[in-house]
Amino acid sequence: MAEFSADNSNEPTIPKPALRALPSPGRPPVEADIARDNPDLVIRRMNLNESPIQPSPKSIVAMQEACTRVNRYPDPQWRELTAAISEETGIPQHRIVMGNGSDEAIVSAGRLSVSPGDEVLVPVPSFPSYNNAAAVNGGTLVTVPLKADGSNDVDAMIAAATDRTRLVFAASPNNPTGNVLTSEEVERLALGIPDTTLLVLDEAYYEFGIHDGGEDHLAVMAKRTGPWAVFRTFSKAYGLAGIRVGYILAGSDEIANAFQKMRSVFNVNAVAQAGALAAWHDKDHRHMLLEKTRIERERLVAGLTALGAEPFPTVANFVTAKMDRPAADIVAALLKKGVMIGRLMHPGYENYIRVTVGSDEDTDGFLAALKDVLAS
Ligand code: PMP
Repeated sequence: MAEFSADNSNEPTIPKPALRALPSPGRPPVEADIARDNPDLVIRRMNLNESPIQPSPKSIVAMQEACTRVNRYPDPQWRELTAAISEETGIPQHRIVMGNGSDEAIVSAGRLSVSPGDEVLVPVPSFPSYNNAAAVNGGTLVTVPLKADGSNDVDAMIAAATDRTRLVFAASPNNPTGNVLTSEEVERLALGIPDTTLLVLDEAYYEFGIHDGGEDHLAVMAKRTGPWAVFRTFSKAYGLAGIRVGYILAGSDEIANAFQKMRSVFNVNAVAQAGALAAWHDKDHRHMLLEKTRIERERLVAGLTALGAEPFPTVANFVTAKMDRPAADIVAALLKKGVMIGRLMHPGYENYIRVTVGSDEDTDGFLAALKDVLAS
């Protein structure tokens, strides 16, 4: 067996220096780490915007059946899935590109549009993967603060776009704030961002927005003359975060082809494809998940407000709220009680926590634990 020294000071470095400055993908505290010190603790995962509800039973059966066939490679063009998505969205099947989660689409968007020195425009605070998509390709990040209601400021984004801008990320609902854009705002963005820019509308929480009475933005995105893509996912409203399936609705054949070229051939495994397809067709389960999420979200918002917190308006499966003290202290104190929540890492947002909507027991457990922490 080869011997490796623990001293890595003389190891060769990577040829792409921009990567050195980037944080590695996060390793959130897992249940095992917390439970080790206190085996009796009830662990509440309210930090990653997952669903507390299991996927559709039909999806679970489809995945179990697919397991018996995994000696074969999966369909590299995900035909059954894209046919189903095409039928419901109206986007032609060949303009739908599946990804290993919508995170893969975010990474690809950077690779296919950004060269060193180009500008990438992002709202802040927003989803941190956007920043990486800029940085790994040598792009310069241009940040545009959110509006006071936590939605993307489309007019400020249009004003910040230059002839060097190659990629713009917008999000509706926005993570971490949870608020949506109106179709009128999306239309302004679609028509106002230069045609030399890929405009991405990240709709990871799309289904929650629609369930809450929000507008569908696909038709107004299609009015854009420049390149565009909409990203959605099975991770949130389908309770399938663990199988990693997201998708791109591309505005043209060329954009779809560009995303196709960026991916690995078998990027969505056979079990995941079967599970996502069955979940897509189980509308009753999706509706139940969305409705339970809405009920618990409203309880969380009311409970947080009663404790003096100031939540952003949200339609998503999470609530972000301003607290009266550093969020890092609250997160650490809650973790000791088994409650895992997130906080905003952006300068100026040191007092903001982000809590994922969980089960009704999670809502009660979180609010009781938070009350204790704030009283101490
Ligand atoms: N976009 C946003 C705004 C998100 O919040 C997330 C996940 N938290 C993603 C994309 C990525 O989701 P996934 O890769 O699971 O589809």
